[in-house]
Parts: sequence; C-alpha cells; structure tokens
Amino acid sequence: MKILFLDQSGKLGGAELSLADVALPYRDRCLIGLFADGDFRKLLERKKIPVQILTNNSINVKKNSNLLKSLASITTIIPLVIKVARLAKKYDLIYANTQKALVVGALASLISGRPLAYHLRDMLCSEHFSPINRFVAVTLANRFAALVIANSQATRSAFIEAGGKQEITQVVYNGFDATKYCDRSRERDTIRAKLGLQDKYIVGHFSRLAPWKGQHILIEALQYCPENVNAILVGDALFGEEEYVRQLRSQVKELKLEDRVHFLGFCLDVVPYMLASDLITHTSTAPEPFGRVIVEAMLCSRAVIGAKAGGVLELIEPNHTGMLVEPGNPQELADAIATCYHKPDFTKQMVEQARSYARSTFDLSQTNREIDSLLQFIYRGKDSPKIPNLLSQRTEN
Ligand code: UDP
Repeated sequence: MKILFLDQSGKLGGAELSLADVALPYRDRCLIGLFADGDFRKLLERKKIPVQILTNNSINVKKNSNLLKSLASITTIIPLVIKVARLAKKYDLIYANTQKALVVGALASLISGRPLAYHLRDMLCSEHFSPINRFVAVTLANRFAALVIANSQATRSAFIEAGGKQEITQVVYNGFDATKYCDRSRERDTIRAKLGLQDKYIVGHFSRLAPWKGQHILIEALQYCPENVNAILVGDALFGEEEYVRQLRSQVKELKLEDRVHFLGFCLDVVPYMLASDLITHTSTAPEPFGRVIVEAMLCSRAVIGAKAGGVLELIEPNHTGMLVEPGNPQELADAIATCYHKPDFTKQMVEQARSYARSTFDLSQTNREIDSLLQFIYRGKDSPKIPNLLSQRTEN
C-alpha cells in the first residue's frame, strides 16, 4: 500500500510530529507532500521519509476566516489540487493530516479516484473554527473521505456534532515511543544548572506560544505560588502570534516575575526540559484536541496538571494520573501547583500510576498497527460501516 500524505504546514506542531511517527513505517513507499517549507521538512529528511514541497504559495485561510476570505484562496488551491491529483496516481491512497490538506486531498481524490483518509486533529467547534470552516471540513469529509481517524473521543464527538458521519469515524490515540522518554537524569541536572535553577521548583510549560494555549494563565498563577516556584516556557510563536509573545513579556514585567519566568523558545528535543521540570502544566483555554504534552510528561515521570476540556479529559484521571483544573482559572491552577509542591508522596504516587497508564495506552507501535489496519480496509475497498472499532478493542484488552 503506497500512501501520499498531505500536510499544510512546514512548522513542527503536534500534528506534524505525530505524522512523522505515523509515516515512518511506510517510508519506503510513501511521500509526504507539504504546502509550506520549514523545519518539518528537515525532520522528515533526517528520518529518511520522502518529502516534497508542493507549493510556494501559502493558502491564506485562517481558522476563523469568513466565506469571502476562503473563496479568495481558490487561485492557490486549484493548481495545487491538479498537482496532487497527478501525484496521487502513483499512490494507492491519499492521507490528509490537516484541514487544508483535507480540502486539497478531497478534490484530488475526486479527480484521481484514489481513496481518501482524513486524520482529524482539530476540535471542529466554535471556540476554534468559523462556521464556514466547520461546514467545509465536515462536508468534504462526509462526501470524499472513506475514513476519518479522530485523535480523541473529543475530536470525534465535535466532528459528529458538526454534522460529520459517525460510521466513517474511528478514534486512534496518538502513539509515543516510550524509550525516548526514559530517565536521562544527568540531562536533568545539566539543564537545571544551565538555567541556574538547581534549587528551584520548576513548573514546565511545553507548547507553541498562542493565546489559546494559555501561557498567560500560568504566569498569572505564579504570583499565587510559593516564591521558590519558577516557570519555564518551552515553545515559540509558530503561526504569527508575535503580539501574544509581547503581551506575555509585558505581563511578566508588570507582575515583577522576571526572575521566575524563563522563555526558552522552541526546543527540538523537549525531553531534557521535561526531566528538568518538577511538574508540567497544560493551560489551554479552549478545548484541546488531544494534548501530546500531557502524555509526554507522564512518560517522563513528571506530574501533570491539565485544563479540564476536550481530549485532556480522556488523558487524565483526576488525582490518579494527574490533576485537572478549570480552563482559564489561574487561582485554581496555583492551588493545584501548591498541592504537588507540598505533597510529594501524593504526587509521586500519581506520577507512577500515570507513567504505567501512558506506557500501556499510548504505545506507538499499537497506534501504527491500528492506523495500518484501518488504511488496509479502505485500500481494499471495504464498506466503511465494517471498519472495526479499534478503541473499544484496545480498552477491552
Ligand atoms: N513541542 C516541541 N518543542 C517545543 C514545544 C513543543 O517539540 O518547544 C512539542 C510537544 O512536545 C508536543 C507538540 O510539540 O509533542 C505539541 O503538541 P500538542 O498536542 O501539545 O499541541 P499542538 O501543537 O498539536 O496544538
């Protein structure tokens, strides 16, 4: 089975990091077509996964774009669709990893006659997308996709609520190679020393800097935490959120937290910084589709506090594998941080439970087997209602 993967981004977001893991087993018989150049291409080249930049023109539609703005992008989309449709003739199926990839992939699937799988990694809800964007995504997926792989029950439910077909949609959780997150304790000490934070309690935040990722909530929470608590913000503005970065920096200044908040920028390998942290927080103010960082924190044996919405509710069992707080509530976040800070035994137990849960539930080879068996189904042209419910099998096992 030869696969043409499509992704709109050249940047290293969660969707792209996950696609690199999904595509790896097919690297001798696949191509990843990107709609923009960037670090994602370099990562794929390092992993020897074939990659091609399919256009130099960006598709200028944002998550909240209106109809007019969306229509204006048609002059970019049409030549891209023609190119992808030609390319698709050399492959057995098209796999769209992002929303713009779905738009292009759906039309290319119609022209080339190749089946389409759509990996749904977004919450199709009003907090994230304009009505027109939701309508386009659901209509194209319903009409052209033989399979929609949702990365959580939350993304699946939002898709169905927006009008998406239930019978073509399957949940497959992101998978992780647990060996990458094993204890590299020397690196912990090195990073803590490099940051000059050996004797501090470090709260880590790992995400691109964007308003809905809620770094400002952690900064605000910090003023209610014990003096010894410091925050490291790992990640950068990936999609033009420079204004938000400026706001974060002036918030830190206004709250006089310059010595306690450390902006570290984007790190290709987050593991040493996770290990350097005592606790990892996730602070999204809108429902998170999945929340890779939460699983990664668990695999690194670090306590995790997540914002109670979207896919995060499927990842954290409160006070058992982590803590959950109301999204956008700094005081509640500060209280949860204080609990972990003051109750090391409780935290240690949670961390151990979370690690073994993450290792068994989010295993990369299991995820890749599930995706492969779903793709085999559509490749062989079986009817979509027969797609096996892999998630329920996984839970039963
Ligand atoms: N990440 C990274 N370097 C950074 C910050 C984040 O590699 O400096 C990774 C992080 O470890 C996670 C991914 O980016 O694997 C973000 O995925 P998540 O699902 O948390 O959010 P998304 O970017 O998909 O909205």
